[in-house]
Amino acid sequence: MMKRFFGILSLLFFTVAAMDAAGQEGVRFDEWFNDATLRMDYVRSGNLKGDGCTLQRFELQNDVWAGSLTQLLDPIDNGEYRVLVKDAATGRDLYSRCYNTLFEEYRYTDASRVRDSVAAFEEVVLVPMPKKAADICLQKRDAKNHFATQATFRFDPAGFRPGRRLPEKKPIALLDNGDPHQKIDVVIVAEGYGRKDSRKMKGDFEKFTKYLLAQEPFKSRAGDFNVWGVGMLMDESGVSDPCKGRYVESAVGSSYNTFNMDRYLMTTQLFRLHNLLRGVPYDHIIIMANCDTYGGGAIYNYYAFSAVQEMSGLILPHELGHSIGGLGDEYVEDDTNYNQRYVNREPLEPNITSLVDFDRKWKSLVPEGTPIPTPPVEGLGRRENGPVGAYEGAGYMAKGCYRPCTKCMMRDYAEFCPVCMKRMNEVFDLYVK
Ligand SMILES: [Zn+2]
Repeated sequence: MMKRFFGILSLLFFTVAAMDAAGQEGVRFDEWFNDATLRMDYVRSGNLKGDGCTLQRFELQNDVWAGSLTQLLDPIDNGEYRVLVKDAATGRDLYSRCYNTLFEEYRYTDASRVRDSVAAFEEVVLVPMPKKAADICLQKRDAKNHFATQATFRFDPAGFRPGRRLPEKKPIALLDNGDPHQKIDVVIVAEGYGRKDSRKMKGDFEKFTKYLLAQEPFKSRAGDFNVWGVGMLMDESGVSDPCKGRYVESAVGSSYNTFNMDRYLMTTQLFRLHNLLRGVPYDHIIIMANCDTYGGGAIYNYYAFSAVQEMSGLILPHELGHSIGGLGDEYVEDDTNYNQRYVNREPLEPNITSLVDFDRKWKSLVPEGTPIPTPPVEGLGRRENGPVGAYEGAGYMAKGCYRPCTKCMMRDYAEFCPVCMKRMNEVFDLYVK
């Protein structure tokens, strides 16, 4: 009993501490922002040893702001990076969002270990349009997981003249539940469709909307989503696949074999991607690729990618677990360097733990008396799951990293486990308030 009481106390402490750090109190949207979306394009270049950011441009991305008008400072502590908007005159924190990047994955490739192997990646952040001069700070975690500012760019609305108006693609409304300020606005971008694929594209949009909302917790929250479709028909069908010697000029320039992982289907052309989305109210991007080879990938608050093939109905919710929920992979894959992030450090993702600081993870959901680490449960049915615990084998590592349940969407395409389900719902809540 005493233990549980302490548990509640520490939970309260963390909630208060998180709110305090975010400083949520008292930032009124109307006082500081116009209802429009400012886009900042920048380039991040570097390698495992370090990186820096250079500003490319500010753009007016949309005449509305698709995010919440009340949840301005990100209460969810996840992601390696954060954008923080501060009032230039007083230094007051006005808006923040955490995210991950493709660069973060490049950092852990073998190429990045070579001293001179510096690579540059396009990145884009979207923030509400400041009414007064603002400092837009790009932040990154330090060794203790605290955010430190890497680069600050001043945005002054008085001197801002939006650039050449980019052609706006008229989006198709696939699911319209109303006011974007109170919905999770998802845009599906059709990639790899040729001139003859117009009918297929339409059918695939509908298919992907169905896949998006087929599984819990999406299913019972379908009314909280708006879904848009944006597509551009190109000369050729399909996307680039270097392993097959195939190179295609596709709408957003995507490719299999990203970082030499054959199923890793991604694009590095972020500016081109966001150019296509000008005028569309969106919080999250799904890239739907017209190619029947298994493939995909996703990054937190960046984008999700999935090929249109027979596994898409399962791949898509898994990828959205990453891109919307910020969840980690719960499976084991020992040939990746990426797991070195977790050595002697608690992973940021809410559904995996190195047990360095399990109190901050899902300990409160573990039934009393469950051993930690939890031994594997034998004899489970195909759809059955063991109790919530800490099962070894997660975050690509066979040893030293633990997951909440035997099965999960983030491990083997089963239903999301209770820990992942809880986090997804918390994230959804941020968009509807
Ligand atoms: Zn899970």
